[in-house]
Amino acid sequence: MPNYDAIVIGAGQSGPALARRLAAAGRKVAIIERKLFGGTCVNTGCTPTKTLVASAYVAHVARRAGDYGVGIKGAVNVDMKAVKARKDAVVAVFRNGVEQSLKTLRGCTVYEGHARFVADKKVAVNDSELAADQIFINVGARAAIPPIPGLDKIPYLTNSSMMDVDFLPSHLLILGGSYVGLEFAQVFRRFGSEVTVIEFGARLISREDQDVSEAVAGFLKEEGVDVRVDSKVIGVEKQGSSIAAKIESTGRLSQIAGSHMLVATGRRPNTDDLGLDRAGISTDAHGYILVDDQLRTNISGIWAMGDCNGRGAFTHTSWNDFEIVAANLLDNDRRRVSDRIMAYALYTDPPLGRAGMTEAEVRKRGKPALISILAMKDVMRAYERGETKGFMKILVDRDTKQILGASFLGLEGDEVIHSVLDIMYAKAPYTVIQRAMHIHPTVSEFIPTMMDKLKPLQ
Ligand SMILES: Cc1cc2nc3c(=O)[nH]c(=O)nc-3n(C[C@H](O)[C@H](O)[C@H](O)COP(=O)(O)OP(=O)(O)OC[C@H]3O[C@@H](n4cnc5c(N)ncnc54)[C@H](O)[C@@H]3O)c2cc1C
Repeated sequence: MPNYDAIVIGAGQSGPALARRLAAAGRKVAIIERKLFGGTCVNTGCTPTKTLVASAYVAHVARRAGDYGVGIKGAVNVDMKAVKARKDAVVAVFRNGVEQSLKTLRGCTVYEGHARFVADKKVAVNDSELAADQIFINVGARAAIPPIPGLDKIPYLTNSSMMDVDFLPSHLLILGGSYVGLEFAQVFRRFGSEVTVIEFGARLISREDQDVSEAVAGFLKEEGVDVRVDSKVIGVEKQGSSIAAKIESTGRLSQIAGSHMLVATGRRPNTDDLGLDRAGISTDAHGYILVDDQLRTNISGIWAMGDCNGRGAFTHTSWNDFEIVAANLLDNDRRRVSDRIMAYALYTDPPLGRAGMTEAEVRKRGKPALISILAMKDVMRAYERGETKGFMKILVDRDTKQILGASFLGLEGDEVIHSVLDIMYAKAPYTVIQRAMHIHPTVSEFIPTMMDKLKPLQ
C-alpha cells in the first residue's frame, strides 16, 4: 500500500493549490481526480458560463449597434457551434493548466479514478489503496435533481450537459429562478431561444432583497424571458418532440411546453459515494461534511474544503478554504472561515455584485443603520455607455460607521463591489471611502457620493 504524507481527494479549486503548497513544503502528496481537472468551476461552472455570457453580450450589443451609431447590415446571427468552440478552447486552457501543473509537480502523484474511504486514513482508488495521516476532501457538488414525477423519463439538461449544447434550443424551459438558472436564461434568450423560467418561490433569487429580485426580473422580461414565479412544477412529460411541464400556480393548473428543459434547482455535495461512513466522518442531513472554523472534520487529520463542506458555494470560497487550511498547517497563521465576509456575483447583464448583508438582514439585526441607493441612470459612465439598468445600494452601521453590506446591480457591479468589500475587511469607517478621490468617469467614482447621501434606514 503506497504511503503518503497527504492525500487530496478532488482536483477542484482548493485541492490542487493545497497539493502544490504541501509538495513545496517537502510532503509526499497524492491527488485523486475522477473526472476533469479543475472541477466544476473550470469545466461546467464559472469559466464556461462566463464565456457564454460574453458571446451573448456581443450578440446583444450587436443588435443594439444602431443605438451607438454603428450600422450592421442584416440580422445578427449566432453560430452556436462557434460559440461552443470558443467556450471549449478557453476551458481547455484552464483545465490543461491545472492538469499539467499537477502531473509535473515534484513530490506529487496523480491518480485518475474515483476515490473512496476504506478506513479513516485509507483511501481506495482504482486497484490501489493509499494511506496518509492527513487527508483533504475537495469533492465539490453536482446538480440536485428534484423528485418531480416524470423527470427521470425525459432527457433533461443540467449545468454539465448544457456544456455540450452546440445548437439553439427553440424553447428552453428552465426549472429554477436562481443564480445558475438566470445566467443561462439571459444567455440563451440573447442567442435567440425562447426562454421560460419557472420558479417555485414568490420571486427570483429569493435570497436577495425584493428590489434586487424585481429589477432582475424586470430586465429579463424586457429582453423577452418569460418569468413565472409562484409556480410549482408537479410533473413533466414528453409530448411528441416537446417537453411539457405541468405547473400549479396559486391553486390553478396549467401546462407549458418547450423543446428542452434545464434543471437548475440547486446543488448537492458529492459525498454520497465517498465512503465517509467507513472513515466515521460526519455530515449534516444534506450530506455536507461538518467542519469547524478551520475546516477540520470530526476525524483528526481529515479536512473538507470547498462546496462539499457547505460553508460556501463559490470558487472564491473554495480557494479561501485552501488558504485557511494552508495557513493553519504550514504558516502557523490561525486563519478562520468566520474571518471572511460573504461576497459573490450574479453574472447577468448587468451583473449583481454582493458583499455582506442584504437590506433585509440589516433590518432583522434591529440596530440603527444608514442606507444609500443610487440608480445607475444617474451614473455618468453608465449613461455614456448606454447601459443604465439597475441600482447600487449600500448599508452602514450608524454607530460604528462600518459598512454592513452592499448590492450593486449595474454596469461593472461585479468589479465595483470590491472597493466596498476591501473597506469592510479593513473594518474602516465609511468615511474613508467617502473622502477618497476616485477616477472620473467610472462607476466607482459614485461610491463616495453615495456615502454623502446616506440616510437613516426607516
Ligand atoms: C453553472 C455554474 C456557474 C457557476 N459560476 C460561478 C461563478 O461565476 N463564480 C463562482 O465563484 N462560482 C461559480 N459557480 C460555483 C463554483 O463552480 C463552485 O463553487 C466551485 O467550482 C467549487 O469548487 P470545489 O473546489 O468545491 O469543487 P469542484 O470544483 O466541484 O471540484 C471537485 C472535484 O472533485 C472531483 N471528485 C468528486 N468526487 C470525487 C471522488 N470520489 N474521487 C475523486 N474525485 C472526485 C470532481 O470530479 C471535481 O473535479 C458556478 C457553478 C455552476 C454550476
